[in-house]
Amino acid sequence: SHSASPAPLDRQKCVYESLPNLYHGSTESQLAKQIKLLESHKDFAEENPFFVADISSVYKQHIRWKNELPRIEPFFAVKCNPDPYVIRLLAALGLGFDCASQAEINTILSLPTSCPATEDPSNNIIFANPCKAASMVKFARRNQVKMMTFDNTDELHKIAKLYPSAQLVIRILTDDSKSVCRFGIKFGAPLDAVPHLLKTAKDLSLNVIGVSFHVGSGCYDPQSYVDAIQRSKKTFEVGESLGYKFNLLDVGGGFGHDNFELLARSLGPAVDEYFPAETGVRVIAEPGRFYVHDAFSLATNIIAKRGSADDIDEDMDDQSPKVMYYQNDGVYGAFNCVMFDHAEPKARPLTVQSQLVLEDVQLNERKVDSEEISCSIWGPTCDSLDCVMKSHKLAKGLQVGDWLRWDEMGAYTICAASTFNGFSRADVHYTSGADSMEAQEVRRILQQTAPDLQGLIMYP
Ligand code: PLP
Repeated sequence: SHSASPAPLDRQKCVYESLPNLYHGSTESQLAKQIKLLESHKDFAEENPFFVADISSVYKQHIRWKNELPRIEPFFAVKCNPDPYVIRLLAALGLGFDCASQAEINTILSLPTSCPATEDPSNNIIFANPCKAASMVKFARRNQVKMMTFDNTDELHKIAKLYPSAQLVIRILTDDSKSVCRFGIKFGAPLDAVPHLLKTAKDLSLNVIGVSFHVGSGCYDPQSYVDAIQRSKKTFEVGESLGYKFNLLDVGGGFGHDNFELLARSLGPAVDEYFPAETGVRVIAEPGRFYVHDAFSLATNIIAKRGSADDIDEDMDDQSPKVMYYQNDGVYGAFNCVMFDHAEPKARPLTVQSQLVLEDVQLNERKVDSEEISCSIWGPTCDSLDCVMKSHKLAKGLQVGDWLRWDEMGAYTICAASTFNGFSRADVHYTSGADSMEAQEVRRILQQTAPDLQGLIMYP
């Protein structure tokens, strides 16, 4: 319940009171009230883009994981979104972590409350970067981060010198052709290189404990995992022929938000077929996107516009839209996912400034909303590369000052955003979600693990 707040509102209060509810099925009249509140805050329109992170969404993903892949221990891929409260929730839930650098390892080791990953890093952190700087290998050694991947002999020599007691995991190449982001060009030993690599490891008296792969991020073919499991099995056999007894299988990431169950229902049975539980093989995974994709929504403000919507009424099919919206975040910021992650984010109007529109608030039926025009959406920098969407359909009546909402912006967004041209990164505001059982559990956990998160708004 939110009373109409008295002025002056500070910005955070305004954001908190206005936005999280937009995510949780507010009725239209609630929505209208929220938007009025937002509009009434004069400074708000001039401020930065911001995320709203629903931590209960991350929790729900974990439940999904446990339901489908109870045998496979998730090690969250920190690179995907190192948000401190996401990490703290996942740590409290007992996840392990896939770290790619010293700083990521440090993030996990410095968590303010104890969790499996900080108490026993040797079993709960994997340094999953096959090509590591020497100083970082030494850092891992000093901090008991033992598990680390390799895919080449130079790395083996490096590790033999710097960290001979490390527990090594050979990263093999798999078919990544059915994934949006392919990694095979950079990492992974092809099967025919495996015998030589493992022989070299043996000659160096290194302790190889298992096999890892990554089918590529945004995988859309369950067969990719099955094929990778078969290759892993062959690699286990090569290891055995050289006197190794592997006991770790790392099935990597690649899981999407929409197709998780589909992928899991091929992966799970394949793991059980080729690596039955009786063998004692520990099976871990490195999901990133799956946990956070849906949890973050971004609000951007239209700061400028070129081309009048009225000029282009019949031009819906024009390849190059004439209306150009300029918003306060772009590919140098959160929308770097357009460049790096092949993302095609979708916008919806979050508010429309015109008071007239607000007076008879039929937000969904509104005339301006029902008619859409093609437009292009640009970021705020002076680079012409900074185009968020070349062609997008948006409500015709949008004006400078209106807000847009971009959902599913949690994976590979904030983590790679820059401040190029002096534009700051979007802040994150947190909600624990609407009053569901999951939200209650998330609140309980965060009260213990993130007491500093005073501002976390517990909706409703
Ligand atoms: N593990 C490794 C080694 C990766 O490189 C990545 C992504 O870059 C991940 C895990 C996470 O992948 P995803 O977000 O597709 O789950």
